[in-house]
Amino acid sequence: MQSRLLINGRLVAGQGQVEQILDPATGKVIARVAEASTQQVNAAVKAAQEAFDGWSRTPPKDRATLLLKLADRVEAEGAEFARIESQNCGKPLAAALNDEIPAIADVFRYFAGAARTMTGAVAGEYAAGFTSMIRRDPVGVVASIAPWNYPLMMAAWKLSPALAAGNTVVLKPSENTPLTALKLAELLAELLPAGVVNIITGRGDSVGAALVSHAGVRMVSLTGDVATGEKILKAAASGIKRTHLELGGKAPVIVFDDADIDEVVSGVRTFGFYNAGQDCTAACRLYAGPKVYERLVADLSKAVSTIKVGRQQAEGVEMGPLISREQRERVAGFVERARAMQHIEVTAGGHAGSGSGFFYEPTVVAGARQADEIVRQEVFGPVVSVTRFKDVEQAISWANDSEYGLASSVWTKDVGRAMQVAARLQYGCTWINTHFMLVSEMPHGGVKRSGYGKDLSLYALEDYTTVRHVMVKL
Ligand code: NAD
Repeated sequence: MQSRLLINGRLVAGQGQVEQILDPATGKVIARVAEASTQQVNAAVKAAQEAFDGWSRTPPKDRATLLLKLADRVEAEGAEFARIESQNCGKPLAAALNDEIPAIADVFRYFAGAARTMTGAVAGEYAAGFTSMIRRDPVGVVASIAPWNYPLMMAAWKLSPALAAGNTVVLKPSENTPLTALKLAELLAELLPAGVVNIITGRGDSVGAALVSHAGVRMVSLTGDVATGEKILKAAASGIKRTHLELGGKAPVIVFDDADIDEVVSGVRTFGFYNAGQDCTAACRLYAGPKVYERLVADLSKAVSTIKVGRQQAEGVEMGPLISREQRERVAGFVERARAMQHIEVTAGGHAGSGSGFFYEPTVVAGARQADEIVRQEVFGPVVSVTRFKDVEQAISWANDSEYGLASSVWTKDVGRAMQVAARLQYGCTWINTHFMLVSEMPHGGVKRSGYGKDLSLYALEDYTTVRHVMVKL
C-alpha cells in the first residue's frame, strides 16, 4: 500500500510519528503511515509557494487538460481506489465503487470545464478617461484539510476548484483515512508539475496546526467539525488568511401530513443511513405532521430494521461499521441518554454490534422532543430521531432552531407549501421530496455554525479566487 507523502513532486516517507490505520470492520491494522515532520510541513509549503508562479500563469486550457487526465486515471483505477477506501472507512465496496468513484471523476471534469468558462462584470469606462476591468486571480498556497468520512471525495472537492483557479495546494487528509489521498499522490506526481499539489499526512493538532499557521499559506480550507473550524479561524486570524469552512450538520426532514409516506420511508432509509449516517447532510432529524407521525414511526422502524449491515465486501451489504471505537461509543452514548428519557422509545436498533469491528445497529429514536440532545446535537452515526409537530409554523421554527445550517428537506405534495417552507429554512440546501442529492454544478455548503465555504459549482471556483480591479488611464 502506498504510504509515502508527496512533497515537491516526489514521494517521500514521512519522518514523524507512525499512525496505525485500521479496518473498522475488524479493528485490525491494515497500514502504517508515518506523518510529516515539521520540516516536511515547511518543505511542502515551500514547494507550493515555488510552484505558484508557474501554475497560476498556466492557461486555463492546460490546467483543464490535466484535470481531465486526472479524472480518467481515477476512473481507470477506480476499482483499486474503491477497494482501499472501503477497507479504510468501512464503507460497502459497492457504494465506494458505484457511487463515489463516478462522482469524484465528475468533479475533476466539471472543474476542468469551469476553469475555462469563468464570467464576470464587464470592463468599461466608469470614470471618464479610465477603463476598469475585473480580474479573478488565484489566492496563493491553499492548505486543504479533509475529514475521514469521504476521504477521496473531499480531496477531489478541495483540489479541483483550487487547481482550476490556479492555486497550489498542500492537502492533509484525516489521520484516520489517509490511504486514498496517498494513492492519488502517485497519480499527481506523474501528472502535475512538481509542487502544485503536495500531500502530507498527520494528526490535526500536530501536522494540521503547523500547516494552517504557516506564514506561506494564504488560504485554509477545512471540512470537519465545528470545534476544528473555530480553532482554524483563530489560527488563520494572525496571518489574515482566507478561510473556507464546511462544518457539521443536523439536517431537519419535515414530513407534512400529505407527503407520500412510502417515499419518505424509502428516502430516510437510504439517506439517513448512507455511510452509516456519518454524513454531514444525513437525513437524521425528522419532524412529522400529527396525522402521519404514528404511521411514519411504524413503517420507518420496520424498514430500517431490514438494512443489511456487514463487512464491506459482503453481498448486498448496505451499511458498514462506524469509523472507530470512539465514534461508536459516542453514538451509543447519545442513544443511551435518549433511551433513559421517559417520553422516548427506541423503535429500531439501539445496540452496538458484536465482534471486534465498530458496528452499530441502524436506529430510530421516536417521541423525541425539540429540547432533547438527540434532536440538537450532531450524532454522526446511524441514528434518526422523530418528533411530532402540530402545524407548519412549529415545523419551520423547530427546523430552524439549530446551531447548524447545512442541509434540510421538505416532503409534501403541495408545491406552494414546499416553496414557502424552503424559502424560510435557514440551510445551505433544501431538498423537496428527496434528500442528499448532490450535483457538481450546484453548491454544497452551509450557513450558521455549519460554515460558509461552498464546495462544487462555480461558487467554489469563486471562493478559491480573489477579485481584483485593474484601471487603465486612457
Ligand atoms: P475533525 O474536525 O475532527 O477533523 C477534520 C480534519 O481536521 C482532520 O484532517 C483533522 O486532522 C484536522 N484537524 C483537527 N484539528 C486540527 C487543527 N487544530 N488544525 C488543523 N487541522 C486540524 O472532523 P472529522 O471527525 O474528521 O469529520 C467529522 C466532522 O466533519 C463532522 O462534524 C462532520 O459533520 C464534518 N463534515 C462536514 C462536511 C461538510 O460538507 N460540511 C462534510 C464531511 C464532514
